[in-house]
Amino acid sequence: MGLVVQKYGGSSVADAEGIKRVAKRIVEAKKNGHQVVVVVSAMGDTTDELIDLAEQVSPMPAGREFDMLLTAGERISMALLAMAIKNLGHEAQSFTGSQAGVITDSVHNKARIIDVTPGRIQDSVDQGNIAIVAGFQGVSQDKKDITTLGRGGSDTTAVALAAALNAEVCEIYTDVDGVFTADPRVVKKAKKIDWISFEDMLELASSGSKVLLHRCVEYARRYNIPIHVRSSFSGLQGTWVSSEPIEQGDKKVEQAIISGVAHDTSEAKVTVVGVPDKPGEAAAIFRTIADAEINIDMVVQNVSAASTGLTDISFTLPKTEGRKAIDALERNKSGIGFDSLRYDDQIGKISLVGAGMKTNPGVTAAFFEALSGASVNIELISTSEIRISVVTRADDVPEAVRAVHTAFGLDSDSDEAVVYGGTGR
Ligand code: ADP
Ligand code: ASP
Ligand code: MG
Repeated sequence: MGLVVQKYGGSSVADAEGIKRVAKRIVEAKKNGHQVVVVVSAMGDTTDELIDLAEQVSPMPAGREFDMLLTAGERISMALLAMAIKNLGHEAQSFTGSQAGVITDSVHNKARIIDVTPGRIQDSVDQGNIAIVAGFQGVSQDKKDITTLGRGGSDTTAVALAAALNAEVCEIYTDVDGVFTADPRVVKKAKKIDWISFEDMLELASSGSKVLLHRCVEYARRYNIPIHVRSSFSGLQGTWVSSEPIEQGDKKVEQAIISGVAHDTSEAKVTVVGVPDKPGEAAAIFRTIADAEINIDMVVQNVSAASTGLTDISFTLPKTEGRKAIDALERNKSGIGFDSLRYDDQIGKISLVGAGMKTNPGVTAAFFEALSGASVNIELISTSEIRISVVTRADDVPEAVRAVHTAFGLDSDSDEAVVYGGTGR
């Protein structure tokens, strides 16, 4: 039996009872003969609470100190989990991300893992311990500062360790039974997916299905690490995310035409009003945004008014970057040349994902018909080979997701989508 990496999300370790429950589950894996490395998130909504606290002290806290604060959440849960395991009569040692050899670049709050040197973790499990690693954190290669990997980053820690340790599988334990055809908190009739390809999962994750973080799926695809997403509250089989379909009985699970519907209400829209319609203007706007280290999502440029020669350019970005983007654009207003800025954080994005889109005509038409049937107005559209996304009013999102889910025949006959814990925050 080989080494397994298990990751437990915040909702699975929300309180002392949760930590004890998870400890039992980890000990079971060890008793079954595996070497076990566990990655753990901060308890419940601890990270959000630490962010709220920082904002009360300073409206724009410095990245280095902010990261130092946030990593405290995972330190609490890793130590408590190691204690709970020892209490069950098994040896466990906890490690910070830095001790576990998670080396990152130095972009605070959203650092990328550039190397993993898990010597101490390997030694610890070779000596018979269960190794517990704090998720979501690392240490920067150049400055040796503590960094965090962005919200939900423990998923990436788990896959990166699984790759570095040559693990058989990376198990992601959460508060639902796997990856569903839509968020079970929004669609009660969502269906559990038995197997999904890295490609479709990557699109779902980057479109807002936070059950897995997109960087973690990217990493798993690059190193071909199979992920098993499952509930820490039930014993059910979850969802396999891998390059090749899994076997069920003597048949391979088929690739679905449509994998699911994702939604995201964490973005905002910035409109740069009155931009001269001439070469170089979009470049100047997006260079300003890039220099502020802000990632954008969708972009749309309106047709310019013939009488003025001016146009508007809109783009979407994470709400958490909104202030920074507006400040950067205002600072460069005269250099870029525009009239004003509009900021709208009441938007939502709905995306339909599926590899079958490439070869099945009519998917786009059916998607727009479903939205029109639910009287949802579309503000922006973007597509990839296997995804269609639209921006709408945030209030319309739940209804729109359900309408699209039904229109594509994804509703299950039973209400199998159970949410075991978490606050959905
Ligand atoms: P954890 O604390 O375990 O990391 P997260 O809150 O990050 O858990 O992710 C699990 C949540 O992801 C679920 O509770 C669910 O609301 C949400 N979710 C969004 N889309 C999906 C989907 N397609 N399938 C399953 N869960 C989803
Ligand atoms: N605790 C961090 C967060 O809430 C990381 C994680 O849970 O994956 O984003
Ligand atoms: Mg998560």
